[in-house]
Amino acid sequence: MEKSNVCVNCQNMLAKVSAKLKLNETELDILTTPRRTFTFSFPIIMDNGKTKIFTGYRIQFNNARGPAKGGIRFHQDVDLEDVKVLAFLMSLKCAVADIPFGGAKGGVAVDTKSLSSGELERVSREYIREAYRFIGPNTDIPAPDVNTDSKIMAWMLDEYEKIIGRHAPAVITGKPIQLGGSLVRDISTSLGGIFVLKEVTKELKMKTENAKAVVQGFGNAGMNAARILHENKWKVIAVSDSKTAIYNENGLNIQKVIEHKKNNKSLKGFKDAKEITNMELLELECDVLVPAAMQDQITKNNANNIKAKIILELANSPITPEADLMLEKKGIKVVPDILANSGGVIVSYFEWVQNSMNYYWTREEVLKKLEEHMISATKEIQRICREENCSMRDSSYILAVNKILEAERLRGVLR
Ligand code: GLU
Repeated sequence: MEKSNVCVNCQNMLAKVSAKLKLNETELDILTTPRRTFTFSFPIIMDNGKTKIFTGYRIQFNNARGPAKGGIRFHQDVDLEDVKVLAFLMSLKCAVADIPFGGAKGGVAVDTKSLSSGELERVSREYIREAYRFIGPNTDIPAPDVNTDSKIMAWMLDEYEKIIGRHAPAVITGKPIQLGGSLVRDISTSLGGIFVLKEVTKELKMKTENAKAVVQGFGNAGMNAARILHENKWKVIAVSDSKTAIYNENGLNIQKVIEHKKNNKSLKGFKDAKEITNMELLELECDVLVPAAMQDQITKNNANNIKAKIILELANSPITPEADLMLEKKGIKVVPDILANSGGVIVSYFEWVQNSMNYYWTREEVLKKLEEHMISATKEIQRICREENCSMRDSSYILAVNKILEAERLRGVLR
């Protein structure tokens, strides 16, 4: 047999739905083999005068439904296999969200906390000096992800435009407003997740006032989710960052937590709360648990200890496939990442549309469109759940797989 570039982890993720849909080998291979995989290394002169080599990745997983789309992650653990899975999930996510994009993801293996601002800028610009050859407004459109933000998107856009010699704001999303960013993009991942959560709690006939919420991660997604939940009168009893977790069974004052994090760069030392570990946080009794940090947080080792009623996956892939089955058996409602966190890429799409027509929407317009998109995707998934008697994860995979295969068929790739 010839060796193939298929993503085995992606196949494992699709195994259950693939059997249910009776996908043949070719269909499964099309869905789980990345179309283009780029790995590159680039030297950066560090502030101490020494040269350090960094490794970067970009994977365009599938582009049957439109240009590849997905963020760039800066994290010390980033490797090719991770980026493949994340790019695969982006293909499914764009299909579920019903936006005309395929899926991509990029990354650099770097610990951003060890870099000065100048070093971070050089890494960001150098990434684009490599990637400019294969990204573009109609080919592949990057965006922020873990440890990358609007400031980094601005440097990347600037570098791209310098190389090609003209403006091209639609090449990257998640930009600052002054450079063509969209209103609401900064909070869209969390806000989109909360729109979905509202639909899910409605379906479960669950009262949300003073219901207990736990949030893992205090980056863009986690911090905004905690804030919006608090504003919506949920009782946020615990939050965490990469260093610690804080817990108060009577509810945390999230505004004060945010101020503390801003002033101290850490949640450590926050008064009015008990410090616990990130693992203890996941196992707290609560109504909704929001993993909003990294992948593989709930595994077969701790799945049986999870006591949440609902898990809203704001992070990508925080639950392993084995753990997912265990949670389903326990009757825990899991709202899968490709629906729960799709608000980010949905407003990225709105940003790209606004850049392409060079006409910009008001905050209210973007909010309304985001809410409509989230609610219609959620309802569609709930409908499939009822018809197929399956979990929301299976239902969202069924929806995405059918849409991608249909696009491949229409292109003549599949007969
Ligand atoms: N990185 C985000 C995600 O995983 C956003 C991607 C985008 O806006 O293209 O969904």
